[in-house]
Amino acid sequence: ADFPRERTALVTGAASPRGIGRAIAARLAADGWSVAVLDLDESACREEAERLADEHGVPCAGLGADIRDRDAVHTAVRRIEAELPQLVGLVNNAGVSSPVPFLDVSPAEWQRVVDVNLHGTFHVTQAVAKVMAPRRLGRVVSISSTSAERGGGVYGRAAYSASKAALLGLSRTLARELGPYGITANSVAPGSIDTDIMGGRLTDERKATLLADLPVGRIGTVHDVAAVVAFLLSEQAGYLTGVTYDVNGGSHIA
Ligand code: NAD
Repeated sequence: ADFPRERTALVTGAASPRGIGRAIAARLAADGWSVAVLDLDESACREEAERLADEHGVPCAGLGADIRDRDAVHTAVRRIEAELPQLVGLVNNAGVSSPVPFLDVSPAEWQRVVDVNLHGTFHVTQAVAKVMAPRRLGRVVSISSTSAERGGGVYGRAAYSASKAALLGLSRTLARELGPYGITANSVAPGSIDTDIMGGRLTDERKATLLADLPVGRIGTVHDVAAVVAFLLSEQAGYLTGVTYDVNGGSHIA
């Protein structure tokens, strides 16, 4: 189907002030997308949506929802359908990390991480794919992690790595099953990006350790990730599906 000039992207986990999702939302709005900003805190989402709408002149909406809550997710998607232009893009960005080593991880901690990163992503993606499929157009991008590819990251351990690796399998399956409906599905696997997910700002010491193994010679930024996501959502990326884009400065070369 034709790629509409007025179109909407849903970005989950998009209200974190220094987060990747917020940078993705801003980049997409700058590219002319209407953005549905979804995160746990409804008022933070509304504020961010208003800011984007003012700055970029595109209608946007803020949606408070916990992606683990299937009903809340369906309500959010219905609101997008009612209030915004055609839903063409989905960015599965909401996620939680876990620094607990495998020998110590409790079932509750394991469940917490998998509930958000995998089950939550399932709920959102299924709700969105059901409205995209009849229109024969969609772009789905899921944020995985270098941690999924190399067996843990600098911060994320087993539960995190396993849940992020699951997203790679999910994306590849979506690429096969939803391709006939005009929907592409891809993954972006960022390396260490300076956000608050690792429990606050990176210390100078931690930065130095990370830099020692980094061919590109600098820590990644949220904009490095947003640029790749924006490309994968664009009309011109229509022949890319089932692929993983590594955005890691060369820290892990697969
Ligand atoms: P962040 O903590 O700043 O942002 C994550 C956002 O997800 C937060 O706004 C949070 O409220 C939201 N969220 C968490 N659980 C949710 C739920 N149940 N329902 C709705 N929203 C929920 O972290 P970030 O670094 O910006 O992470 C964004 C994504 O990028 C995550 O999926 C993360 O795993 C991934 N990632 C980050 C890095 C990194 O180094 N920062 C590296 C690789 C991958």
